[in-house]
Amino acid sequence: MVRAEGVRKHFGRLEVLKGIDLTVERGQVCCLLGPSGSGKSTFLRCINHLEKVDGGRLTVDGELVGYRQQGNKLHELREREVAERRRDIGMVFQRFNLFPHMTALENVMEAPVKVASVPKGHAREQARELLARVGLGDRAHHYPAQLSGGQQQRVAIARALAMKPKLMLFDEPTSALDPELVGDVLDVMRQLAADGMTMVVVTHEIGFAREVGDTAVFMDEGVVVEAGDPRRVLVDPEQERTRAFLSKVL
Ligand code: ATP
Ligand code: MG
Repeated sequence: MVRAEGVRKHFGRLEVLKGIDLTVERGQVCCLLGPSGSGKSTFLRCINHLEKVDGGRLTVDGELVGYRQQGNKLHELREREVAERRRDIGMVFQRFNLFPHMTALENVMEAPVKVASVPKGHAREQARELLARVGLGDRAHHYPAQLSGGQQQRVAIARALAMKPKLMLFDEPTSALDPELVGDVLDVMRQLAADGMTMVVVTHEIGFAREVGDTAVFMDEGVVVEAGDPRRVLVDPEQERTRAFLSKVL
């Protein structure tokens, strides 16, 4: 589903991704870990067309991200083509970014109605189902300010799912939450994984990564230091840098 081969990205003179190789198969959960500034968010943003890759090759579901290939020439995608591709990818951020003036239900309905032209009645029904799925069936008419951080994050997940994505990206979805609210959000993600969603999750929740992840990727300074079975990488890493990092977050 996601294939990165030598992916590079720089901001001015700062090289942030220095040749990332990584594969996420359909239905798998890949957990990305690494110190602050190692390029995790930038990599997710590249997958989701929020940043343009400068080098290497990045594909999602077999399609080159950001470019169209004709013969051996690459053409940058037009805005409309980018928007179309992005519909297939759901993203959840550390901060919930819900629309504050809309209820939970309206937040979840917004994209299907506005972007995908789904009839309102159908979108509403679908949104109700999604809210029930994230355990918020009884909060449909609450505004974000009336919900806890964990509930807001679950609405954000439901909102991303409303577009029926084939890939979900999570960028530290629980880091801004009070500890007692983390579990509910991780449970929703665990269920999503069990239902077969392909996911790339930046997280420092080692327990989650070990239990739910099919692969764990440890990044540092724009490179993949170590990748593989989370039950090895996060328990008995081969690399000293991985070991040092884990001793800090555990
Ligand atoms: P964190 O754990 O703190 O979220 P991260 O691994 O997600 O870190 P990134 O956000 O990808 O790291 O940032 C990697 C580096 O790229 C950092 O040095 C950051 O300052 C820099 N960077 C990110 N976005 C930009 C930008 N738009 N312009 C310039 N520099 C940027
Ligand atoms: Mg980040």
